[in-house]
Amino acid sequence: MSTVDELRCEVADLHRELTRYSLVIWTAGNVSARVPGEDLMVIKPSGVSYDDLGPDTMVLTDLHGNLVEGELAPSSDTAAHAYVYRNMPEVGGVVHTHSPYATAWAARGEPIPCVLTMIADEFGGDIPVGPFALIGDDSIGRGIVETLRDSRSPAVLMRSHGPFTIGADARAAVKAAVMLEDVARTVHFAHQLGRPDAIDQQHVDRLYARYQDVYGQ
Ligand SMILES: [Zn+2]
Repeated sequence: MSTVDELRCEVADLHRELTRYSLVIWTAGNVSARVPGEDLMVIKPSGVSYDDLGPDTMVLTDLHGNLVEGELAPSSDTAAHAYVYRNMPEVGGVVHTHSPYATAWAARGEPIPCVLTMIADEFGGDIPVGPFALIGDDSIGRGIVETLRDSRSPAVLMRSHGPFTIGADARAAVKAAVMLEDVARTVHFAHQLGRPDAIDQQHVDRLYARYQDVYGQ
């Protein structure tokens, strides 16, 4: 199987995680993966039901969003994904959802504060808000890159819109989207009862370093 075919399978499968964790409704949301070593990416088609997504319906584009291979038009967020790949060479996967709790923080334009060890582990600090940007050109991509370039967070809450997450590969970006919604919900609950304390920066740094370098198999 070619690398592109493998990525078609992987990206199609990863879309099922978005529905499994209730991060998306209808046809909203999308996952993409960079084709390693090529100026290409695999991304969800525009406006297709999650039930109908499979390897064959995934779309191959260049890193300017031009269709290279596939029957269907690429996701309407393709320009944003492509901009991220062009400007952040370390990124191999991008995810966008309107998951409700994370999007509620985006609606208020409020960063999710680092008040849980899980946020320090996964995001390395507060989860930042990106600028308001209209769809249709590079504005969303530029906002994502400008916000995440100097942040340890793999997630940005685009103001009045919703989250974008990045990762070394598409699976890592999906994991960030799932974790983001979980902490967005928990910190929302905490805020109903008062203001939780921020974790000291030195503890955030230690948690982040340990989790990123040591945790897991
Ligand atoms: Zn959107």
